Amino acid sequence: KEVDAIGHRVLHGGMKITNSVIIDDEVIKVIEECADLGPLHNPANLMGINACMKLMPGVPNVAVFDTAFHQTMPPKAYMYGIPKEYYEKYAIRKYGFHGTSHKFVSKRTAEFLGKDYNDLKIIVCHLGNGASVSAVKNGKCVDSSMGLTPLEGLIMGTRSGDIDPAIMEFIAHKEGKNIDEIMTVLNKKSGVYGLSNNLSSDFRDLEAGYNNGDAHCIRTMNTYCYRVAKYIGSYVAAMNGVDVICFTAGIGENAPLVRSLVCEHLGFLGVSIDEEANHKRGEEIAISTPDSKTTVMVIPTNEELAIARETVSLVK
Ligand code: AMP
Repeated sequence: KEVDAIGHRVLHGGMKITNSVIIDDEVIKVIEECADLGPLHNPANLMGINACMKLMPGVPNVAVFDTAFHQTMPPKAYMYGIPKEYYEKYAIRKYGFHGTSHKFVSKRTAEFLGKDYNDLKIIVCHLGNGASVSAVKNGKCVDSSMGLTPLEGLIMGTRSGDIDPAIMEFIAHKEGKNIDEIMTVLNKKSGVYGLSNNLSSDFRDLEAGYNNGDAHCIRTMNTYCYRVAKYIGSYVAAMNGVDVICFTAGIGENAPLVRSLVCEHLGFLGVSIDEEANHKRGEEIAISTPDSKTTVMVIPTNEELAIARETVSLVK
C-alpha cells in the first residue's frame, strides 16, 4: 500500500510508442508485438509488469521505453540501405536504445551549463557494458549508434558493434556455424572481450593491462576509443556542429583513460582536456579547459531517477 506507482524500463516500443505511457492492454500488446525486435528483453520486461500487476492490483504501472527518445530521428538517419519491403513488412530500421539515459544526460548537460536545451547541439557517449552514442540537436535526438537491435554501433563489452555483414557468412562457412551460433559470437564473445583475446570485458582490467604495456589491452583500448571518436565525428556532420560532448555510464563516468584517448582524436573540434578535472570521479563536471572550443563533460546517468520522474509525471 506504500507504493503509489511502478515505473518499468522496457526495451523496445517499435514505431508505435514515442513516449512513456501508463500500461494498459494496448501497451502490453505493443510490448508483445515488439518481442521479435527485442527477444531477450521484452518478454522479461513483461514478466516484471505482470508480476507487479498481480502483486499490487490497482497500482498504476508506467512503461519507459529505451527506444522512445530516439523516435525523433529522421528517415535519413533510421533507414538502412536494404530493400524497402523489409521496412514495410517487418519495420526493419534503426531504433536506438539507452534513450532514457541519453535524454536524462543531454537535459542535465543543458541545465548544468545554464543553457537552453532547445538551442544546443549535444553528443552523448553512453559507454557502459552496452554502449551507444547519440546526437541531440535542439532537444531532439537526430541520430543514434544502436540500430534495429543493440548490436550496432560502438564496440561494446561483448558485442561487436559495426562489422561488415559479409563477415557473418565468411565465419559461418569457415567454422561450420549456423546463424544462431554466429549471433551468439557477435553478442557474447566479441567486443572488447573478444578483441582482447578473451582477457576481459571489464575496462578496469583493460586499463590495468594498458598501463602495464600489454599488447592485447593497448590494441583493444585504441580500437575502442577510435570507434567512439569516429561516431563523434560523424555526429558533428549530422548536426553541422557540436557544442558539448558528454560522457556517461560505467566507463564514460569512471575511465579517464578512455575519455583522454577518445579526445586525442578531437583536435579538429578544438577540444582541449584538463587532465586534473578528467581524473575527478562521481560528479557532474566539465573536463575541457575553459578555452576549449567544444565543451567536454562527464554527467553521471541516472536511469532509475529518470524513470521515476516519468512515472510521477504520468500518474499525478
Ligand atoms: P554499466 O553498464 O554502465 O553499468 O557499466 C559497466 C562497465 O563499466 C563495466 O563493465 C566496466 O567495464 C566499467 N567500469 C566500471 N567501473 C569502472 C572503473 N572504475 N574504471 C573503468 N571502467 C569501469
